[in-house]
Amino acid sequence: MEGKDFFVKMVNNEKGKGLFSKRAYKEGDVILEEKPVVSCQFSWNSDYGYLACDHCLRPLETAEENAQRLAGNSNIVLPHSECCETNKNLTTECPTCGVKYCSVECQNEAFQRYHSTLCLQSRVKDENHPLTQLNETWKQMHYPPETATIMLLARMVAMVNQANDKQHVYSMFSQFCHRTVNDTHEIAHNLLGEKFVGQIDVLRGMMEKALNLEYTAHWFTPDGFRSLLALVGTNAQGIGTSAFSRWVRNVSALDLHKDQRIYIDKLIDRIYDEMEEVVGSFLNNEGSGLYILQSAVNHSCVPNASVEFPYSNNTLVLRATRDIQAEEEICTSYLEECELERSRYSRQKALSSLYLFICRCDKCQSQANDPDVTSDEEVDASS
Ligand SMILES: [Zn+2]
Ligand SMILES: [Zn+2]
Ligand SMILES: [Zn+2]
Repeated sequence: MEGKDFFVKMVNNEKGKGLFSKRAYKEGDVILEEKPVVSCQFSWNSDYGYLACDHCLRPLETAEENAQRLAGNSNIVLPHSECCETNKNLTTECPTCGVKYCSVECQNEAFQRYHSTLCLQSRVKDENHPLTQLNETWKQMHYPPETATIMLLARMVAMVNQANDKQHVYSMFSQFCHRTVNDTHEIAHNLLGEKFVGQIDVLRGMMEKALNLEYTAHWFTPDGFRSLLALVGTNAQGIGTSAFSRWVRNVSALDLHKDQRIYIDKLIDRIYDEMEEVVGSFLNNEGSGLYILQSAVNHSCVPNASVEFPYSNNTLVLRATRDIQAEEEICTSYLEECELERSRYSRQKALSSLYLFICRCDKCQSQANDPDVTSDEEVDASS
């Protein structure tokens, strides 16, 4: 696969591929922009009342409503409402089930691609609907913070079913990294926990009840379903959209009087503190999606690029975080910023348990002779 400025090349690692630049980039440059082939809001997030476009995940609540909800404080008032990007006048909904969209374009695209299959056909929640049962069962198995949702898999099946060229859509999903049977066992285990063997069969049975699996039969054999879960578990990228963080960004760019700036900065800090207390880990991601190019990007503990969602929807931007030379491999970090500061042993432990690979990046190689101990902060945290 190839773009104007980058190409995907086979390399000798677990993914079997990597993304390389054809040209040089300066720090801050956009390397690529990409829409997901499929994306979905997390099940608990939608349950907790986070209103987002069911197709592109754009927030449908205002920055103020977003802050009030996440901080559990209805008294929050945000000045500079012009810095809020939510335009409720454009919000539409499916006339049959009431699912909400940010625009007619999203509504139409969703319907054409998967929603005519997945529409619940009623505005009243029917607990006995097979899709509702599937989602509820998933939620009971997978408490927040969520990293995946079974509804993403349901969307993939529906996309194949609704496509004119079913084989084309099916093979599009097949190009995501596939793992060995042993690996998929462990990834599914990570995703679902101890009772995962029984849970996988329960989920598979419920998918069978909820959807026509005629065109995706390979995904629903016992091995096939585990590898489908593993595909989503290792390739799905978390998508962060928040009306409040967009407001923060826009307000920070305003040319304000010094007193006002101090007032605004204090307000923002206070709201973030309140949110942290109430929702904690809910903050980071609203859903997840599969991206073809981004999924080819490997991890490095000294990354040269990062993933952003600057449009407050599911459009992903890969941005250079330092200067990049032509022919250099583009890498992001799969670990959080603070985790990158930990010891080589701690980093490799986290990566191998979550993604099943031993990191051999420049930093890990230069620290190869460091003792196999966890870093101080981790020892502190566990004692
Ligand atoms: Zn949308
Ligand atoms: Zn509908
Ligand atoms: Zn590393």
